Amino acid sequence: MSEANTSSQPRDFIRDIVAQHVAENRYPQIVTRFPPEPNGYLHLGHARSICLNFGIALENQGRCHLRFDDTNPVKEDVEYVESITTDVRWLIAGWADHCLGLKPRGAGPAAGTVNGRPDRAIAPAAPGVEAEPFFASDYFEALYQYAEDLIRRGKAYVCDLTPQETDEYRGAPDQPGKNSPWRDRGIEENLDLFRRMRAGEFPDGARTLRARIDMASPNVWLRDPLLYRIRHVAHHHTGTQWCLYPLYDYAHCLSDYLEGVTHSLCSLEFVPHRALYDWILENLDLPRARPHQYEFAKLLPTYTLLSKRNLLRLVQEKVVSGWDDPRLPTLAGLRRRGVPAAALRRFVIGTGITTYDGSTDIALFEHTLREELNTTAQRRLAVLRPLKLVLTNLAAGEEIACEATNNPQDENPTTRRITLTREVFIEADDFAEVPPPKYFRLKPGGEVRLKYACIIRCDEIVKDAAGAITEIRCTADLTTRRGEPNADRKVKGTIHWVSAPHAVDAEVRLYDRLFTVPEPGAEPDFMQVLNPKSLEVVRAKLEPALATATPADRFQFERLGYFTADAKDSAPGQPVFNRTITLKDTWAK
Ligand code: ATP
Ligand code: MG
Repeated sequence: MSEANTSSQPRDFIRDIVAQHVAENRYPQIVTRFPPEPNGYLHLGHARSICLNFGIALENQGRCHLRFDDTNPVKEDVEYVESITTDVRWLIAGWADHCLGLKPRGAGPAAGTVNGRPDRAIAPAAPGVEAEPFFASDYFEALYQYAEDLIRRGKAYVCDLTPQETDEYRGAPDQPGKNSPWRDRGIEENLDLFRRMRAGEFPDGARTLRARIDMASPNVWLRDPLLYRIRHVAHHHTGTQWCLYPLYDYAHCLSDYLEGVTHSLCSLEFVPHRALYDWILENLDLPRARPHQYEFAKLLPTYTLLSKRNLLRLVQEKVVSGWDDPRLPTLAGLRRRGVPAAALRRFVIGTGITTYDGSTDIALFEHTLREELNTTAQRRLAVLRPLKLVLTNLAAGEEIACEATNNPQDENPTTRRITLTREVFIEADDFAEVPPPKYFRLKPGGEVRLKYACIIRCDEIVKDAAGAITEIRCTADLTTRRGEPNADRKVKGTIHWVSAPHAVDAEVRLYDRLFTVPEPGAEPDFMQVLNPKSLEVVRAKLEPALATATPADRFQFERLGYFTADAKDSAPGQPVFNRTITLKDTWAK
């Protein structure tokens, strides 16, 4: 488990490199980017990348571009473009919003010159201009022109090997590859074929464009990697304009360059790609400062699945209700569950940035969440499994005003009115007819305090014909209320309650971890280790102040946990609440 680092200014090896570059005045401005592929929803792991990229921009008066790395039209969709944009904006709101680099709506790179050399940079939108995220697909024309440049320099060739032959020729990590028979095509022939590939003359898979590097390189990524492939398929952003699509490695470094990115931060699996990133930029005549790639370890929380393929399976097989199911580690799911963006940021920043892979205990996330909510959430009374209690010494219709504290963590806590009545609900498991030893809640003949009200004594249990308890009859000692002579009288237990005539009925969804094992992804089939109790739905009784709650409000239901109104299913007067997290770690051994 990583050590939490809650200091306001995080330090790590990437920030050290950036600090050195700033000291050397190497770049006019520090520019980072967060480059998701729009092929799924963002998750907890992406939050680390977002907070690192935006954090570095923030700490250095720089900017961070939101760029869609949309080079693979087969798996991508506008639904994902929209959800990712919403999620990124949510996560950085109130923290690094002003660092978000966007481009003027509809703009692509301009074909210009710098120092007499061709340049195709794209400038970010100025304040006030209508703006949108950057898209790698906006650079398809520029990328195509750079590819012709590589061909003219003898650095790329059109290859006619089939996909299977290409794999065979590549060799193995411990075995050199073989040169393609098409490797020494003349420049004119390559240019002609590449233009005809663009024009749609050839079917999918018939030809590729490859970098001409070294088929014997110990780094397999340098064995004449593919730069372009033919795909006769529409693209969510460019429509049917292209049937020739660049590969990720080719598009990524050049997109960074075009946007003026200085530090290109990605996860460790891209370490072997770095040589290719540099090779492409070095073999083009690029007038401006080149970006550099730095790698860090992914965030891998326990009890959690992150990879999109697996999350998609949970969605498609209806294990969860959708990408924003509050049990999923997607940012949309976490938001719906009631996780404040600030808590998420504190968690991912606190886990730090390293160069070795390791998992992070999800309990650390839950701990950060409780800490954040403890200071911000309003306290309310709610009863999840109601048991009726009759205070026999109060008259029907009698109302006794009590004062409840909204948040004892506030410097000057405010209070609200709640009403004690003859009939109230308490939590069913706050009463035991046959109490176990050391049971300090309500039991026959015993006393407890009703929070914010008074001490009560249990006199009688009423049961129906079948023997089920229907109500508990008690006497309220009104002299133990605040301001009364016996206010300080102590009893061992304090329980929560709501007034029966004032209570609001609500559906409450009790969410818990989705998996029962720390590493569900390491199981032969993660479907076998689903937590059968990851969702329990109860019909609860809430104090009336909760009827008008909005999804932006955070509550602590006293003694139960933190809750928030569901953004989708809650309606005015008919609230639905989600449990964000219990008050205590119920998983700790
Ligand atoms: P997944 O593996 O879940 O499908 P991905 O890596 O394909 O995610 P991308 O859209 O390619 O998702 O990721 C965007 C950025 O987020 C990349 O720079 C990637 O390195 C980073 N990233 C993805 N997963 C994590 C993670 N678990 N921790 C930190 N950064 C991550
Ligand atoms: Mg990826």
